Amino acid sequence: MTKYIIIANWKSNPDAPGRAAILAHGIEEGIQGLRGVEVVIAPPFPYLLPISNVIKKAKLGSQNMFWEDVGPYTGEVSWHHLRHIKANFVIIGHSERRRYCGETDSMINKKVKAALENGLTPILCIGENERVDNDIPAVVGEQLRHALAQVKKSHLKNLIVAYEPVWAISTTVGAVSDTPDNAFRALVYIRKILADLYGRKLADLVRVIYGGSVNAKNIESFLLEGKMQGALVGGASLDPKEFVEIIKKASEC
Ligand code: PEP
Repeated sequence: MTKYIIIANWKSNPDAPGRAAILAHGIEEGIQGLRGVEVVIAPPFPYLLPISNVIKKAKLGSQNMFWEDVGPYTGEVSWHHLRHIKANFVIIGHSERRRYCGETDSMINKKVKAALENGLTPILCIGENERVDNDIPAVVGEQLRHALAQVKKSHLKNLIVAYEPVWAISTTVGAVSDTPDNAFRALVYIRKILADLYGRKLADLVRVIYGGSVNAKNIESFLLEGKMQGALVGGASLDPKEFVEIIKKASEC
């Protein structure tokens, strides 16, 4: 297994396919020859197929997925569609989907199970809305337990949990940024819940990563001090130079 995983969450960006292709080319070129880091790009749905033709070293991820198979589910995308275009990763339960699209813990649980049962790696996002000093609020554990209800032990090795404190996301728009100490506290808390649910040995197979205004300046602190196994990167993944720099720093950690 590679040491770290760095995932680009482009959200609803960029605004045109040409720009998406330039961005993907820039990332792909910049990561040639780098070792020790797995790189995933998660573009909006319409760009998945064109981007799959641009990337070779980077892997493809989706930002969402429905829990049902193909069928009468207007507007939804199933694991079948993703598998066919070789998207191996899927972000599930991102705070923006919980907030703007009404995703509940029960929907997220169905999506996590559908992904794992059908050969996709879910990147399960959990995190509290408000900052609580020196503490990880219980809601983080509740989100995790709900999302993993009835998830089989044999599937754990394919699970990634992204701790994303909502208050630390996109702090360029004015919120407070997080510290590696807080990330480490979250890691310990998440690992304890995983161990309670599945036992320490299996829990250790789950990769736990950090998301929240990660950039080239702070990535090392989240990996080395926060002991996270990677990062989910939003804003900074839209600048190929910055994103490649994040990956380079991770490969040197
Ligand atoms: C995200 O939304 O997943 C994220 C981490 O965004 P940003 O890096 O912009 O905070």
